[in-house]
Amino acid sequence: MALTRILPSREDEDLLNTIMRFAAAELQPRVAEAEENGTFPRDVFRKLGALGVLSLPHDAEYDGGELPAEVALQVVEELSRTWASIGVGVTVHWASVHPLWKWGSDEQRKRWLPELISGDLLGGFCLSEPEAGSDPGAMKTTATREGNEYVINGVKAWITHGGEADFYSVMARTSGDGAKGISCFLVPADTPGISAAPPERKMGLNGSRTSEVRFENVRVSANRRIGDEGRGLAIALDALDTGRLCIAAVSTGVAQAALDHAADYARTRQQFGRPIIDFQGVSFLLADMSARTSAARALYLDAARRKDRGVPFTRLAAEAKLVASDTAMAVTTDAVQVYGGAGYTRDYPVERLMREAKIMQIFEGTNQIQRHVIGRDYR
Ligand SMILES: Cc1cc2nc3c(=O)[nH]c(=O)nc-3n(C[C@H](O)[C@H](O)[C@H](O)COP(=O)(O)OP(=O)(O)OC[C@H]3O[C@@H](n4cnc5c(N)ncnc54)[C@H](O)[C@@H]3O)c2cc1C
Repeated sequence: MALTRILPSREDEDLLNTIMRFAAAELQPRVAEAEENGTFPRDVFRKLGALGVLSLPHDAEYDGGELPAEVALQVVEELSRTWASIGVGVTVHWASVHPLWKWGSDEQRKRWLPELISGDLLGGFCLSEPEAGSDPGAMKTTATREGNEYVINGVKAWITHGGEADFYSVMARTSGDGAKGISCFLVPADTPGISAAPPERKMGLNGSRTSEVRFENVRVSANRRIGDEGRGLAIALDALDTGRLCIAAVSTGVAQAALDHAADYARTRQQFGRPIIDFQGVSFLLADMSARTSAARALYLDAARRKDRGVPFTRLAAEAKLVASDTAMAVTTDAVQVYGGAGYTRDYPVERLMREAKIMQIFEGTNQIQRHVIGRDYR
């Protein structure tokens, strides 16, 4: 069934139509093979860059699209409906630009932002470490001041685009003062001393490269520190608020895709002499999948509209991420059920969607951590 979106303007409708055509022409023919073989589609990000997608949220002053979150997130949902690794990649790039865009000085923004969002470059966001996942305040990577430079040493874990990115936003410890001793740096990926481990062998999302990134005596000019010393974790958490909305949009796209496939299959698969969609047991399953997917979309759009109006949205972003990723998991599992035995094979896309849904409950803060964020408001 065609999805009817309510968008703020005619231009936004045109943009979404362009994205859907792009997804059909450029993503659909490649997604299954690339995910099966674990191929990172760098060229797709160049094409999306040329379309302006990598700069959709950023200020027009720096050649960004200056699009409200309400629209940018629906672009992410549509990309993810066809290829989740691409939707995730676009939002990780946005998160990598976020520290400079929102917390950089005017001079830093003028100097680096246009290039970062030009569409030619791809970013990575380096927060997690092997021993610091849900608790990033425990990170061990250090950035030691030496004259006009910082020297970064440590290991960042699970970095999306690790080894593929052109630049990294890196959180590193500038003092021993716990969560308040972390600072943020914008680091070109070809700086001597940076290396990436081989890609992680993941359950899904295999078109998205995830690697450890190692920093060994990496020298960065002091003018590449974003924000004051000690503000790094606050900057990262600010980026994660928006990142969670992005993962809610990706999750909704994955759920919608599973629903689309399951409904198509149920209309054509015959048992007992009729299409299985005629059985209430199947059509009620599809109805629940549809209701849950619509609810996930409504929740992330509510949070996005608050963000666009400057209203606090941290709790709503956590709720949207929690609900949408749980929805993606439930809806993809039900889609496998609608396919019966065929759903349990790699011959149909719903099995891959179910594997992709699982990561949505884990990254950008696990869903247990989202509950901590939500619960804080009620203490
Ligand atoms: C594919 C992929 C891509 C990623 N991309 C990036 C990236 O680009 N950049 C980046 O910085 N990171 C990235 N991550 C890391 C991701 O954000 C972390 O995996 C996530 O935050 C969880 O950390 P952890 O894996 O160390 O789990 P842990 O923190 O060890 O958690 C293990 C379990 O304990 C639970 N737990 C922990 N603390 C609590 C608590 N206080 N209360 C209740 N339960 C708790 C967790 O919910 C989880 O179930 C990525 C991860 C993956 C798998």
